[in-house]
Amino acid sequence: MAEIHGGQIVARQLRAAGIDTLFGVVAGPMIELFAGAQQAGLRVVGCRHEENAAFMASAWGWVKRRPGVVVVGSGPAMTNTVTPLYAATQSAMPLVVLGGSAYANTLGVGGFQEADQLALARPACKWTGQVDRTERIGEWLHLALARALHGRPGGVYLDFPGHYVARRVAEQAAPIRARAPDVAPPHPDPEAVERVAGMLASAQRPLVVVGKGAAWSDAGPALERLVGRGIPYVCSPMGRGTLPDDDPHFVNAARSTALAQADAILVVGARLNWIFGFGRPPRWRADARIAQIDIEAEEFTSAADVELGIVADAAVAVGAIDEALEGRALASADGRWLSELREKKRRNEATLAPLLASDAVPIQPYRLVREVRDVVPRDANLSVDGETIMGICRAVLPSFRPRSRFNAGTTGCMGTGVPYAIGAALADPDHASVAVVGDYAFGAAALALETAARVGAKVVFVVANNEGIAGHLIQDHMLPAGAPRIAALLPAHYEKLAELVDGLALRVERPDEIRPALERALEADGVSVVHVRVDPKATRASGANYLQ
Ligand code: ADP
Repeated sequence: MAEIHGGQIVARQLRAAGIDTLFGVVAGPMIELFAGAQQAGLRVVGCRHEENAAFMASAWGWVKRRPGVVVVGSGPAMTNTVTPLYAATQSAMPLVVLGGSAYANTLGVGGFQEADQLALARPACKWTGQVDRTERIGEWLHLALARALHGRPGGVYLDFPGHYVARRVAEQAAPIRARAPDVAPPHPDPEAVERVAGMLASAQRPLVVVGKGAAWSDAGPALERLVGRGIPYVCSPMGRGTLPDDDPHFVNAARSTALAQADAILVVGARLNWIFGFGRPPRWRADARIAQIDIEAEEFTSAADVELGIVADAAVAVGAIDEALEGRALASADGRWLSELREKKRRNEATLAPLLASDAVPIQPYRLVREVRDVVPRDANLSVDGETIMGICRAVLPSFRPRSRFNAGTTGCMGTGVPYAIGAALADPDHASVAVVGDYAFGAAALALETAARVGAKVVFVVANNEGIAGHLIQDHMLPAGAPRIAALLPAHYEKLAELVDGLALRVERPDEIRPALERALEADGVSVVHVRVDPKATRASGANYLQ
């Protein structure tokens, strides 16, 4: 009778779930999982650090609308995934970490890398589980994948005590759960749809707020029809691209005015947390009527004074609201409100024009981002990370496709830019993957470019080197004068990291060199690093701190 080990069971279950790629760092007691996956023809992305492996898997999952899967060893290998689990859970991205743990016969007596891994994972996860025998590995994995994916997506941890992994069992004794349910998206209550339609129709200043949940549910086409009735919308940083950023109703560049003046706001798949000023004054008008669509009912009770919550899939609910508006005149139909916002947007954008055109040396970072904007293909996957540069990208660099825009997300997690770009490149090799990262953000994960080169993930890393965390801003103004550099960093030669893997290494000092360098990098076969020296004293022209 044929026998199989735990790793082969995992590979079979992943195949059954339509997952063809896994990420991880090879380590005991999980080596059979890597071997089993390779044997079964899965693509295994062997990484250099578990944190980056899990961020890559998160991005892969976000693009594919499947759980990203990462396999790690015991003890510290597993704890290295706690940050990505927390980031995935908070950012509603599906991630499954399969972590090996100490063998039963060594528990309690100082076993190698013994740790209470379930306890370490639990607060960072939406669900945790532990394999309780080899024969049930398929079932446990089936549960873990579903928990990560359905409802609000998030991070899941499945613990594999070492003694169950290598054990061989009869093939028939370890069944695979071949079928996952087709889950019909939750439809909205018709009365609630009617109320929202009435609210939007009677508003003088209606506004739609688009978040990651809208991106996740592919609500773009329905949103396009809804806002096409003349309703302006703003987008969260990772919701960008759900509708193309050149949609005439997109008013992020007048976002403060839009939020402060709107009298009726429909929130679609976004949480009213710090990213949206908690949905309350002073950033939102005190008497604004707020309706919210979310897949989780608990989300409607927040700092914001929400009038109506609709539990539904974003795409379905927006489609229903749009249909309910068919043939109805909107009180905002004269277009004044939209025109006001578009005029404000035009004025705000005009203030950036000199920065975008700057010929200064060292390079003004706005000029760099403008060049990136003008050169990258419209359908590129864009990953942005850093303090100054991420804020500038938010203002200047558009996205046009759903789930093609990555940034620090709900947790404001720095160090994601490099691994997210690699994960996106592997999930979607037909579109360019470009990371625009500060020097600190690049440094947090730079050696992942060896992984990228090895597995053939073609990524262009644009390193905006402003010599530190927020350039020199914190060092010069918030730390003792003359103290050793801790926020400001050395003007290191970051392009040389590409040389480590025979990638394309380009160093840019002058504005006119930016475009040819980017063009070469986009045409290159492998990994490239375009290292751009930008003005360390330059700051963001507007915006509150960070993503807000
Ligand atoms: P952002 O940071 O873009 O504002 P958040 O991550 O705060 O977005 O919020 C995303 C919200 O979308 C979460 O509350 C999540 O429950 C919700 N969500 C996820 N999937 C769907 C879906 N298919 N339909 C509606 N809402 C969804």
